[in-house]
Formats: sequence, structure tokens, C-alpha cells
Amino acid sequence: MTDSTSKKALVLGGSRGIGAAIVRRFAADGAQVAFTYAGSHDAAQALAADTGASAIRSDAADRQAVIDVVAGQGPLDILVVNADAAILGDPLEQDADAIDRMIDLNVRAPYHAAVEAARRMPDGGRIIVIGSVNGDRMPFEGGAAYALTKSALQGMARGLARDFGARGITVNIIQPGPTDTDMNPADGPMSGLMHGFMAIKRHATGEEIAGLAAYLAGPEAGIITGAMHTIDGGFGA
Ligand code: NDP
Repeated sequence: MTDSTSKKALVLGGSRGIGAAIVRRFAADGAQVAFTYAGSHDAAQALAADTGASAIRSDAADRQAVIDVVAGQGPLDILVVNADAAILGDPLEQDADAIDRMIDLNVRAPYHAAVEAARRMPDGGRIIVIGSVNGDRMPFEGGAAYALTKSALQGMARGLARDFGARGITVNIIQPGPTDTDMNPADGPMSGLMHGFMAIKRHATGEEIAGLAAYLAGPEAGIITGAMHTIDGGFGA
């Protein structure tokens, strides 16, 4: 187990799926954890009761709300930005407002959250953003806008790693492949297609992604920064 004892961590988008697995893992590792959510009040309350984490309702698509919640929880030792929207479909038919909201959530929120966290983060702090293997590889139709949001995170991590490196603050992207969550259930209609691209033909579990987050947040990862960490069963290989 990675020792996060007494570390203060905030997970943006932590009520379900990968975010909830990270909340559980950090709490089990001894961190003092808070997480945000938007719609899943019951799931958030249940997770908070189970783990001792604090649940905060806050819309990650609202820039000021993101800045306020990060500032309000700081100084943070660990920030994880996980909340996202995944809007797939024919770009000629997609609703432009929905695409812009996805860009707000998947690109603007991680950037402003990371910058706000870094204002008061102690030396050696950790910033982790959940991207996607689709930032590297988009092997089917309908994912252009989603992929653009995930590849934008790569440039952000490379740049912020340099901005904050002198303070020992690391900035990393975790790039999952298919992972069993409400957004992408292992028994969903797309599973056969996705497993066809993979060397290990199954969805990851949230716990597997959380294990990588715990490593990047832990003491052995202090020299890892500006990097993309793909965890995808070979989807992008
Ligand atoms: P889920 O849809 O299962 O969970 C999303 C989480 O984000 C929920 O806790 C949700 O909270 C929260 N959230 C969504 N919108 C907002 C918002 N506006 N404000 C605050 N919180 C919000 O997603 P996953 O766990 O599957 O995905 C998590 C991350 O992993 C995403 O960044 C996704 O792109 C990435 N990923 C996932 C893959 C997969 O196969 N599952 C593959 C590759 C990447 P609430 O319900 O309360 O709104």
C-alpha cells in the first residue's frame, strides 16, 4: 500500500467510477480526502459515509466553482481531476453547445484546477489528471471532439510540469483504456469493438486505475512528471 498518511487530497468528480475508486484508495492509504460531484448525491453520500471522505457538490464545468472549491480545500498535497463528459457521435450532427460544455469540463476545468492548486501546494505536491488512451489513438468514428479534449491534456501536463518543477510538484496524466464504469460498462454494446483493439481483451477495473494514481501520488514517484501513463490493456499499442 502506498503511504499517503496525513496527505490532503481533492478528487474532482469522485462520486462514481474511476473517481470513486481513487477516493477509496486514497482514503485506505490514510489520506484526508475530499471529492466533488455534480448529480449523484446518493452515491456521493454513501461513498463519504464508507470512506470518511468529504463530499462537495460543485459543477466542474463552471470555472469559478472549480477555482473556489480548489482554493477552499487548499493547500492540497494531491489534486486529481477526473470529472468529464464523453460525447461521441457524428460531428456533423452533434450539438455545438454540448461539445463546448465537454471542452469546459475536460480541458478548462483541469487547467484552472491545476493552476489554482499549485498556488498554495507545498513542495513535492502531486497533480494528476485522468485523460484517455484516445488522446493517443482514436480508432473508431465519432470520437473526434472527445479525443481533442484528451490530447489537449498532454500539452498541458508537459507545460505545467516545467512551470511547477522547481518546487518538486509533479503533473501527470493517466490515460485509461476501456474501464468498467457507468460510462463504459464491461458488458455494454461497444465492448466487443473495444476489446478487438486490445492485447488483453477485457475492461480494466477502477481499482487498477486507482492503483496507478496511488503510485503517482506516492513517495516513489517524485521524479515522474510531464508524462502520460497509459493503462489500457494494449489498446494503444
Ligand atoms: P463516470 O461517468 O462513471 O463517472 C464520472 C464522474 O465524474 C462521476 O463521479 C460524476 O459525478 C463526475 N462528474 C461528471 N460531470 C461532473 C461535473 N460537471 N462536475 C463534477 N463532477 C462531475 O466516468 P468514468 O469513471 O468512466 O470516467 C472517469 C474519467 O476516466 C474521465 O475523465 C474519463 O474520460 C476517463 N476515462 C474513462 C474510460 C472508461 O472506459 N470508463 C476510458 C478512458 C478514460 P456525478 O455523477 O455526481 O455527476
